[in-house]
Amino acid sequence: MRPFTATIPLEKAQQRLREAARPIARVETVPLEHLAGRVLADDVVACANVPPFARAMMDGYAVRADDTTGATPDTPRELAIVGRVFTGEVFGGTIDAGQAVEIATGAPLPEGATAVVMVEETAPGATTDRVLVRGSVAQGQHVGRAGADITMGQVVLHAGEQLLPARLGVLAALGLREAPVYARPRVAIVSTGNEVVPPGTPLRPGQIHDVNGTTLCAIVDAHGGEPAPVAVAADTLDALHEALAETVGCDAIVFSGGSSVGDRDLLIDLLQSRGEVIFHGVATRPGKPTAFGRIEGTPVFGMPGNPTSCLTNAYVMLVPFLRTLAHLPAYRPRSVRVPLVRRVNSAPDRTQFYTVRLVDGHAEPAFKASSDITSMAHADGYVEIAAEVTALEAGALVDVVLF
Ligand code: AMP
Ligand code: MG
Repeated sequence: MRPFTATIPLEKAQQRLREAARPIARVETVPLEHLAGRVLADDVVACANVPPFARAMMDGYAVRADDTTGATPDTPRELAIVGRVFTGEVFGGTIDAGQAVEIATGAPLPEGATAVVMVEETAPGATTDRVLVRGSVAQGQHVGRAGADITMGQVVLHAGEQLLPARLGVLAALGLREAPVYARPRVAIVSTGNEVVPPGTPLRPGQIHDVNGTTLCAIVDAHGGEPAPVAVAADTLDALHEALAETVGCDAIVFSGGSSVGDRDLLIDLLQSRGEVIFHGVATRPGKPTAFGRIEGTPVFGMPGNPTSCLTNAYVMLVPFLRTLAHLPAYRPRSVRVPLVRRVNSAPDRTQFYTVRLVDGHAEPAFKASSDITSMAHADGYVEIAAEVTALEAGALVDVVLF
């Protein structure tokens, strides 16, 4: 065993990560159906008006607003119905004084019309080709003008905005089939350990299934990255070099396991021989044996092998880093403030992430051990206990950060 170098506070580790994170410059054009959640690399200037034509906003009658002046239920105005226009059609003629055209919501306003009278404001006229208007309408009433939603030439979306469903709707409204977005950062995921085998492989004595490969791929995918899993590497420096060779072209590399100070914990040796160590050892619990460095310009994370340690640190260190690479806004997980059901002790001088369940408006401890993935799988979120705090009393109000 080799002694562990001094740990650094979580805040300092996060600061070094912020300094090292460089947003991806690569841009790609992606078809509309695959744009959800992506980040625009360019402003979108409206190439058309939306709607493209003035249209009825109600079912009723297109009229000249002047013809309805003074109309009331007692003193209705009678107009001649000169046609009907449904959606997808265009009325061929022009409305003159004293005329109306029956119109459906969304249909183009006929030439000459300046307003729409809602069908509820009308009654049948003396003959089937006449209508009584029982209320006056102002110019433009119940009419959606051309370009009311989006005006041609307007910058309607901005570079750096994430394509949430409504923003995809803007692209669709303009008729665009694709848009330029930043490439998703490719993140190599390498599990290490002689005992670690992929799910689906029957276990021989002494072996366990790879948990971190799956959890890390999922969290990378959820925060704008493109996971690139690499085969599990054995605990030899040669195997780590080989795994590294598989990560060419990736924007970041995340190893798990082998990041501590045991004789078989070789990640630090790899970083030292091929690049640089930026930090090794963070004052968190769980997750102390976490390393970060760079190899040939590519950021490299060394996550602890214990599944809950690995995933906790992925939330607090990898996710913010990755979102910067992906041009995504900072991660703001929701939290709820609830009382703790019982006293919780916390390690001095280490920021503790204590998983809890929400039960009847209280936070109930869910943490078992950092080796146990159910410490997180059976929790709703975690309480971050500051390094200087050594205990939280029963009934204390805590902020539960939700997963
Ligand atoms: P290490 O960080 O390599 O010292 O591993 C710490 C503990 O985590 C050991 O019990 C390992 O067997 C376990 N472990 C390491 N990697 C994984 C993994 N990918 N999935 C599940 N458990 C792991
Ligand atoms: Mg190991």
